[in-house]
Amino acid sequence: MTELEIRDLHASRDGKEILKGVNLKTSKGEVHAIMGPNGSGKSTLAYTLLAHPKYEVTSGDILVDGESILELKPDERAKKGLFLGFQYPTEVSGVGFSHFLRTSYNGLSKALQGESREVFITVREFQKYLKENLKQVGLKDEFLSRYLNEGFSGGEKKRSEVLQMAVLKPTVSILDEPDSGLDVDAVQSVAKAISEVSGKDSTVIVITHYARILKFLNKLDHVHVFYDGRIIKSGGASLADELDAKGYDWVVQNV
Ligand code: ADP
Ligand code: MG
Ligand code: MG
Repeated sequence: MTELEIRDLHASRDGKEILKGVNLKTSKGEVHAIMGPNGSGKSTLAYTLLAHPKYEVTSGDILVDGESILELKPDERAKKGLFLGFQYPTEVSGVGFSHFLRTSYNGLSKALQGESREVFITVREFQKYLKENLKQVGLKDEFLSRYLNEGFSGGEKKRSEVLQMAVLKPTVSILDEPDSGLDVDAVQSVAKAISEVSGKDSTVIVITHYARILKFLNKLDHVHVFYDGRIIKSGGASLADELDAKGYDWVVQNV
């Protein structure tokens, strides 16, 4: 059954149209990749899905489980199960990483139910859960006592975004270039963490320039080519390799 549906979505920023008719459907548990050149509007799509105030939807619709979420604020969309891992995560000084994760997890727990959501009664129980997840994304326990993303390196910020996804257990995650700025080993561990999270209950959409991270995923159901504000071609996992070998111009000339 369709879980997330983007229907002929148009969106602008500062009066400039950036999304020009995006169509996409995802079903529970699928892994999708959106690949496209710089400036094509991939991050704009991610922000628009999560209701970033700078982006205005001018037409089209976004539906979760058949219901429009266009009128919902970012936190309300999170409660519908959406999660965005940012391309450029912000440093939030004064907000403890571990406190942030616990507050967010508890905030979502009433709205998101499922067998995989445990109830953590004590802080200690939750810390144990966090540590298991930290290990999975390759971050040391000491990160828990730091402020959210403050002073994290580029790679650590990316791992922090994937950690948030792993911990919060959203139903649909959009990860905006989780591989940018990572070396090969880090790409592999981030991909592994993504694979762990994606599964029968969790849908993941990975936005990326490169097929590299996709090769490390346990499964990849659909690959979409994003160009000039819309998806111009969709296919299976092999499309990612084709793009890697032939570039985006090849697709543009062949649609
Ligand atoms: P991508 O993530 O695919 O690299 P973006 O969504 O970041 O693309 O950007 C899409 C387009 O929107 C680009 O042409 C970019 O220059 C433009 N854009 C981004 N931010 C702004 C802004 N603040 N004002 C006007 N145009 C913007
Ligand atoms: Mg970019
Ligand atoms: Mg981007």
